[in-house]
Amino acid sequence: MDRPKRVDGSNLSAQDLDTLRSSVKGKVVVKGQSPEEEYRPLLERWNRMHIKEANIIVLPESEEDVSSTIKFVAEHNLDVAIASGRHTYSGPSSGYGLIIDMRNLRKVSVDVEKQTAVAQGGSLAGDIEAAAEDVGLRPVMGAVNATGCGGITTGGGIGNLSAQYGLVADNLLAARVALADGTIVVASDEENPDLFWGIRGGGSNFGLVTEFTYKLHKADPFVYSGFFMFSSDKIDACIDLMNVLHLDYIMKSNGKFACTGLTAIMGGNVIPGFLVWYDGPEEEGKKYIKPILDLGPIYPGSGAEVKRHTETTDWKQFEKMFPPEFNRLVGTTTQVSYPISTDIIKRTVQRFQEIVATRPENLSVSKLMFDLRDYSKVTSVPLDATAYANRREGCLIAVDLIWDQEELDKEMMQITKDFITQVRAWVKEDNEQKGVADVGAHVGATTLYALVSDGDEKLASVFGSNLGRMKELKRKYDPGMMWDKWYPVSPDAN
Ligand SMILES: Cc1cc2nc3c(=O)[nH]c(=O)nc-3n(C[C@H](O)[C@H](O)[C@H](O)COP(=O)(O)OP(=O)(O)OC[C@H]3O[C@@H](n4cnc5c(N)ncnc54)[C@H](O)[C@@H]3O)c2cc1C
Repeated sequence: MDRPKRVDGSNLSAQDLDTLRSSVKGKVVVKGQSPEEEYRPLLERWNRMHIKEANIIVLPESEEDVSSTIKFVAEHNLDVAIASGRHTYSGPSSGYGLIIDMRNLRKVSVDVEKQTAVAQGGSLAGDIEAAAEDVGLRPVMGAVNATGCGGITTGGGIGNLSAQYGLVADNLLAARVALADGTIVVASDEENPDLFWGIRGGGSNFGLVTEFTYKLHKADPFVYSGFFMFSSDKIDACIDLMNVLHLDYIMKSNGKFACTGLTAIMGGNVIPGFLVWYDGPEEEGKKYIKPILDLGPIYPGSGAEVKRHTETTDWKQFEKMFPPEFNRLVGTTTQVSYPISTDIIKRTVQRFQEIVATRPENLSVSKLMFDLRDYSKVTSVPLDATAYANRREGCLIAVDLIWDQEELDKEMMQITKDFITQVRAWVKEDNEQKGVADVGAHVGATTLYALVSDGDEKLASVFGSNLGRMKELKRKYDPGMMWDKWYPVSPDAN
């Protein structure tokens, strides 16, 4: 089907813009017309590589504003992007046309009796966590509170509580969704279940979520958490420990112990470490981190303590790992089956070290992460129950190449692509030896965590065996491809 190309809105007349302004209560900020000090900060993104000069930014104050803006977008065939927490690795919340920026819609209300939270579509994970913690409850969100619930929920969402309660999307009970014609509908198991299926892992392919209703979980607010780092000569020992940690500790903790292997760079050397998080008292937590302590971490600098769960997700503590001058990056992932081939991990770390050594100053805060989570709760949900396709037990390998200069963007993107392609080839070989398919036959699940990707992966790698249903739903809910920023599925293909 031929669709007219979406336009960036630079051709809109003053009268058109007045019509838009009068149809919404929220602010309409226009490039070249609104004051620069108002316009420019609205373009900021966590990953500065994806800052784009949008022509129009609408800041809705209500669901009606969202609806009116979408109708305007449809009438003028505008290019449109949705921004919530503005925290994506790739750039789907940026564009040259119109941005629907949800930052003013962050109200959260918690129902203590029902153990639910209703959050407006622009809420940050931290807004929901804080509101729930006040009354002894917790939502499932990701590792940091600054992430928008819009992106993380529609993309799947993994956090420390996922081993106990599943994905962020698995804890979604209902949503209100603004469709491509501006109408607002409810998506839940009872109403529009096909849409509900699609927004749990299908991203923004079918509409903009104006309100999320989440299941909350009763919990003590305190957890035992911290970080342990080691000298460079212990890299191999740390890698060798990963299978032990996974099999004998994480998988025996009833989902309470989550642990991420991490490499950071210090003084040009790769430093291994483990981020640990235990949902229980210190005495119990200490048993789970024993093998890490036995390996002799570096002090001072290493340690775990009892903290509020919301403290462990507080973005402020991670800011040190992402200094503002290093704000261009690409994140990408693949997953290796257990028991992990330590040889693959060692080769991956070795390659990472070589890459960083080519530009030690520019790449000095880059990271590699090895997510050693218990995925049995996530994989207990059938793969075709939601659009999310990465329901697989395995260690997620995440590459975060982070640099400081715009001139390096192209080169670094390419280096990261080549790097992950190489790692995937090793993993594929390993999977073949273990009889585990890369995508498809084994469990039909993908090995890519699409929320941490360069935005440029094949649709089959993102949606796996759910791609066919995604296409069907796209034909029903967005045949005109209004929502075309986060892994847009073409409705045309059979
Ligand atoms: C430092 C950091 C840590 C992270 N940690 C984790 C983690 O622990 N676990 C995890 O799962 N992910 C994690 N992520 C990835 C994160 O979940 C995604 O980047 C997510 O897309 C961010 O959501 P956002 O709303 O902030 O993004 P934005 O950039 O605002 O939006 C990105 C896209 O999400 C979609 N979207 C946003 N809001 C809505 C909405 N209301 N309705 C429909 N679609 C919407 C749109 O396609 C939008 O373009 C992390 C990212 C970063 C940068």
